[in-house]
Amino acid sequence: MKIDIRNLKENNSEIRQNVEITFEDTGFSEFYPEKAIVQVTVDKFGNDYRFKVHLNTTAHFICDTCLEAFEQDITLDYEHIYQIGQGELASSDDVQVLPADTTEIDISELLTEIILVNHPIKMLCKEGCKGLCPGCGTNLNNNICSCTDLIDYRWEKLKNLIK
Ligand SMILES: [Zn+2]
Ligand SMILES: [Zn+2]
Repeated sequence: MKIDIRNLKENNSEIRQNVEITFEDTGFSEFYPEKAIVQVTVDKFGNDYRFKVHLNTTAHFICDTCLEAFEQDITLDYEHIYQIGQGELASSDDVQVLPADTTEIDISELLTEIILVNHPIKMLCKEGCKGLCPGCGTNLNNNICSCTDLIDYRWEKLKNLIK
């Protein structure tokens, strides 16, 4: 997604609404197979261009606890500053310096980064997911199994370890 910055005016927000993007080539496409809807607001301050990104998509995750597939609505807001040529701001995590002859800014990488930075370390289908029975593998969110003596089962495991 590219934004032409040549005609941007000082103190005048440039807004792009409802731009559709995909994460097909990111290596994370299995988790984000659906289109994301993006809204971008660009504010120009001299050589600095502040990009405000609002991103919405539906993620397809697998619960770490019960191994069921589930969908999760993802809404992210992110700010990033691009600086054209060297200005007062030094390059840092929040400011990215681009060559002085830049005429358009490609934010595709930024959009991928926003998704990756917010990608969950642990995926949980719901608060308090009961997970799978360690005895028989039944999904305890949906069913009750007949392993009534799970504590004994765990003891068995321990005994085996000690042997
Ligand atoms: Zn679960
Ligand atoms: Zn069981």
